[in-house]
Amino acid sequence: MTYLVDTHCHLNHDEFNQVSETVGRAEGEGVSYVVVPGWDIRSSERAVELSEMFERLYAAVGIHPHEASKADSVSLQRVESLSKHKKVVAIGEIGLDYHYNFSPPEIQRNIFEAQIEIAKTVGLPVSIHNRESDADLMAILERQATGSWSLPRRFSYQINPQPRGVLHSFNSNYDIARRAIALGFYLGISGMITFGKKDTETELQKVVRAIQPEHLLAETDAPYLAPVPHRGKTNEPAYVPIIVRKIAELQGLNEEDIRRTTSYNAYKLFGVGEAPPPKIAYQIKDSLYLNLTLRCDSDCIFCDRKGEAMVKGHNLHIEREPSAQELIAEIDDPTRYKEVVFCGYGEPTTRLEVVKEVARFVKGRSGRTRLDTDGHGNVINHRDILPELRGIIDAVSVSLNSIDPVEYKRLMGDQNGNGWHAMVDFAKEATKYIPEVYMSVVGVPGLDVDAAKEFVENEIGAKFRYRPEF
Ligand code: SF4
Ligand SMILES: [Zn+2]
Repeated sequence: MTYLVDTHCHLNHDEFNQVSETVGRAEGEGVSYVVVPGWDIRSSERAVELSEMFERLYAAVGIHPHEASKADSVSLQRVESLSKHKKVVAIGEIGLDYHYNFSPPEIQRNIFEAQIEIAKTVGLPVSIHNRESDADLMAILERQATGSWSLPRRFSYQINPQPRGVLHSFNSNYDIARRAIALGFYLGISGMITFGKKDTETELQKVVRAIQPEHLLAETDAPYLAPVPHRGKTNEPAYVPIIVRKIAELQGLNEEDIRRTTSYNAYKLFGVGEAPPPKIAYQIKDSLYLNLTLRCDSDCIFCDRKGEAMVKGHNLHIEREPSAQELIAEIDDPTRYKEVVFCGYGEPTTRLEVVKEVARFVKGRSGRTRLDTDGHGNVINHRDILPELRGIIDAVSVSLNSIDPVEYKRLMGDQNGNGWHAMVDFAKEATKYIPEVYMSVVGVPGLDVDAAKEFVENEIGAKFRYRPEF
């Protein structure tokens, strides 16, 4: 199982007087890394001190909105000097809290923005506290993000916005979630996700169900907000798996999928943890995906194959395309999986012979096969390839993306403009040879989902699949 990261845990709180025991229990549960944020100067210094004592503890330094009225230029300078310590990975926790209003809102906003400026100067992400202050918070973030707010480029980001920080212990609505993600913020999911009644979903649970795990981080916010069944008691980093399991349940994914994805997110944002090695075969839920190639005849505006090429915490950035024998060795026994999927962060029909050879192996061992394609296989191979797939491919999933050829051309970066017709003909033809044909769309702005569904079902005779943008 993949290690976990507690991305927000106050081990610098007086509640934790036996930090090594708490850290030991966390490690026993697979929580290998912890980010410890400060809330004032003293607690920030303590966070740095702890990070020096424990190899896998990291610190965030900053002044919480509750403490804003006590802050002055000297304390802000101290935040900046502490932030240069090598184990400091964020400025936090900073933000706004209009619930308690322990500091006047105007002072909170000033201190918050002053610390965003520090984060920009030193090139660190921010860890943000937000309580009943959605409107002002988003106004500040949206204004700040239009300027030159970028972090050092640890990775190349083709499509996803540069990460800038996390809205820790997220508890706002879907609209705020979407806007924050668009600005490059992650949502920190705490034990609050486990609160609520058994049969009615809370607003937060609905949000987490609707957001792709690529935008989520796991955190405890210990010693506060202990998850059920420890609610009301002292929280600790050993409880991160409870939160991760709840996220997995809401997302309909395996616990391991959420472990891998959230831990990678923590690595991407804070540089905490380990870089995942490239894979030629990878599991998501119960299916095994084969990473055949990074080559593609399309150049979709939402595709990240030339960027990070990460999918749910799996690194698809292969240096060399795998052979059929290497893929067969990875599959071993195909009946262990619901299906073996030919994909890649590229177009698998560019490697048609390998697809056929491996598919024959899977079918020979009573497995099930699926081909995920942009539907340009006939153009790429200069012939009708569908008869060759008959009997060895059980399902084909074609990226429809748009029912409008002009919009398709724009989305797919389709140079000659024939891609849409080639794709539609391929899907229609596929229904004659392949038992199950799906067509999928990604929920980009302006997409008419109902019209796409009607087109797929009535014009093509295929099944419709929808994937949200975020
Ligand atoms: S078809 Fe798929 S692999 Fe090719 S550019 Fe589009 S999203 Fe990327
Ligand atoms: Zn906190």
